[in-house]
Amino acid sequence: MENEKISVIIPVYNEEKNLERLFERIVPVMDGLERDYEIVLVDDGSTDRSLEILLMHTEKRIKVIELTKNYGQHAAVFAGFENSKGDIIITMDADLQNPPEEIPRLIEVMDEGNYEVVGTVRKARKDPIFRKIPSKIVNAATRRITGVHLNDWGCMLRAYRRQVVEHMVQTREHSTFIPALATAFTKDITEIEVAHEERFAGETKYSLTKLISLHFDLVTSFSDFPLKFMLYMGFCLAFLGIAFGITLTVARLSFGAAWAAEGVFTLFAALFFFIGAQFLALGVMGEYVGRIYREVRKRPPYTIRRTY
Ligand code: UDP
Ligand code: MG
Repeated sequence: MENEKISVIIPVYNEEKNLERLFERIVPVMDGLERDYEIVLVDDGSTDRSLEILLMHTEKRIKVIELTKNYGQHAAVFAGFENSKGDIIITMDADLQNPPEEIPRLIEVMDEGNYEVVGTVRKARKDPIFRKIPSKIVNAATRRITGVHLNDWGCMLRAYRRQVVEHMVQTREHSTFIPALATAFTKDITEIEVAHEERFAGETKYSLTKLISLHFDLVTSFSDFPLKFMLYMGFCLAFLGIAFGITLTVARLSFGAAWAAEGVFTLFAALFFFIGAQFLALGVMGEYVGRIYREVRKRPPYTIRRTY
């Protein structure tokens, strides 16, 4: 719908060299839409001149939010969500890897009205190889965990309907991964191809450890597979132990005591069995911990789109 307001949310962490260029590119694009809009920039505890530069650009349509310290990209986007008013909410990065010129296409798809979330796939992604390979693995894992078949979860250039954002904000989860969280509240998700650029200036804010921690968050906050894994492993080990024990008994009876190395093998069979049993016990505990976790997280069991 043409009269809907648009909010663009941009987390900023030490991006002083990119901000001028960002404004130069995004403002004409947004003006060109001829719709009501706001750009919400969230300074995520930058230690360079980012905030100063942002404050030079504040005006009616450009809002700046300063966080007290560096909380991470997804927390910063959340702060933006809570302080935005748009009916359509767009997230993107400040480093110009997501070209602002693609925003109108996202809005076009939203306007058609069939989708509540529009993701993007980066055509010809311009990132170093050590960033791309983990992404492939993470994309596959996220598809499995969420059961939603999107090709690219990592690209933050995305559009959400207000309602989905409000549901996300209500969860108040601490470590989360926004593109995956959105799938908890809607089924109408699609993705379009967008261009991807090199970082305009500066370096990626994700070190390898930060990247691992983000993806660990993704797995642990959306699935209890790691807990279940112990249970499966317990079953497998205990089963192996039993099978080994049976084989040993049969072999011992047919080939004699010397073959069985005087009981050393039997010890192994027993060991396997007990290790398996331990994992099983851990797995059962894990199952309960998983339940507690789901309760504590207080994600709503369902959310209503509309009542008729
Ligand atoms: N960012 C942030 N807080 C952080 C790390 C990153 O607000 O702790 C912002 C950053 O300024 C940029 C976006 O999140 O606008 C994506 O970060 P980056 O470009 O470093 O990630 P990459 O493109 O390498 O995935
Ligand atoms: Mg980037």
